[in-house]
Amino acid sequence: MTRLAQTAGLNDVQREILSTVRDFVDKEIIPVATGLEHRDEYPTEIVEGLKELGLFGLMIPEEYGGLGESLLTYALCVEEIARGWMSVSGIINTHFIVAYMLKQHGTQEQRDAFLPRMALGEVRGAFSMSEPALGSDVSAITSKGVREGDEYVLNGQKMWLTNGGTSTLVAVLCRSDEGHPEGTAPHRSMTTFLVEKEPGFGEVRPGLTIPGKIDKMGYKGVDTTELIMDDLRIPANRVLGGVTGRGFYQMMDGVEVGRVNVAARGCGVAQRAFELGVSYAQQRHTFGKPIAQHQAIQFKLAEMATKVEAAHAMMVNAARKKDSGERNDLEAGMAKYLASEYCKEVVEDAFRIHGGYGFSKEYEIERLYREAPMLLIGEGTAEIQKMIIGRRLLEEYRIQG
Ligand SMILES: Cc1cc2nc3c(=O)[nH]c(=O)nc-3n(C[C@H](O)[C@H](O)[C@H](O)COP(=O)(O)OP(=O)(O)OC[C@H]3O[C@@H](n4cnc5c(N)ncnc54)[C@H](O)[C@@H]3O)c2cc1C
Repeated sequence: MTRLAQTAGLNDVQREILSTVRDFVDKEIIPVATGLEHRDEYPTEIVEGLKELGLFGLMIPEEYGGLGESLLTYALCVEEIARGWMSVSGIINTHFIVAYMLKQHGTQEQRDAFLPRMALGEVRGAFSMSEPALGSDVSAITSKGVREGDEYVLNGQKMWLTNGGTSTLVAVLCRSDEGHPEGTAPHRSMTTFLVEKEPGFGEVRPGLTIPGKIDKMGYKGVDTTELIMDDLRIPANRVLGGVTGRGFYQMMDGVEVGRVNVAARGCGVAQRAFELGVSYAQQRHTFGKPIAQHQAIQFKLAEMATKVEAAHAMMVNAARKKDSGERNDLEAGMAKYLASEYCKEVVEDAFRIHGGYGFSKEYEIERLYREAPMLLIGEGTAEIQKMIIGRRLLEEYRIQG
């Protein structure tokens, strides 16, 4: 049953972690996922299970109480979790990005203050770049932080915060003109603020409102929200890294590892769609034989499995590149682009194999069909990935003279 998406060269610890996560997914996530998703219910028990497994601290260094694992281990765990239910991988993804940004860019005081509690899942992270008028064009951000004494006063409206309600620490990207007068390039005038808050909705701290959950077509269970800052006061020591003007680079670094993560989600959802398709094709009979015995359906299965394999290989390559300390924006962009497109195609083929039953809410593929499109958008659309890939290729293949 697990012939596809194997990863060569894993060590014993990685294999053990993955086997534990796969077991958890099969026993604790898959049986309840579709019911919870249809009710748009937060998977509280699953999240408690993830905490016990240490998954909130998977990549946080051991000195802060985490497991200190690699991006590859993390991505392979995400693949397994998304195979069970993509929303659960969304719950840990923004947390992971914020922890990664703290580890890479935070001051020592900020790391000490947050990482140990993040490793336990007591502090839960969300990250916020998008605004109502922008997503792809991060340089157009209008939310602003202005220094007043030992504080910054933040104003603006943010959009599409995954885990906006359940998180207690949000990394918010704002324009900050202190030391960066008007006319400075946009990417040099942005700052990441670490905003602590209570979980929940409404005014969760003076000057900070989380209005409520956005009603989505899929990716349910996990809360996605707006965030409104109205004279929100943040101590100056909650500027990520202690220095303004670095937010754009910090966020792009976070999003780069996030792209590997979205690729991993695409791999997981595609694997599940393949599993559902190959199983149904052997049970459903038409014209006197299982539909799996019709060549047209076998061809579909062959294409689906090939896409699952290709996406997995590219995702693993992108993760390994980052783990080796090399720049991986090209590989991460390619992996995210390919895995999300293939995921959509594999899910569509599994849906078609189910015939009319794919349209019924009783069948899991119906949920996957509504989930796959999110991967085409999150952490940068296909067009944005292609822009990144194209620019990098022209750097690599620049002709001389
Ligand atoms: C469920 C969900 C969860 C999300 N979670 C988060 C989160 O946690 N934090 C966060 O900050 N954001 C989050 N987002 C926002 C997400 O990152 C953006 O939706 C995404 O980046 C696209 O931005 P946009 O929606 O504004 O589309 P736009 O940027 O308006 O793009 C619209 C279309 O134009 C295309 N386009 C844009 N620019 C170009 C160009 N230069 N060339 C060619 N085509 C172009 C795009 O590819 C797209 O097809 C989430 C979104 C969703 C749907």
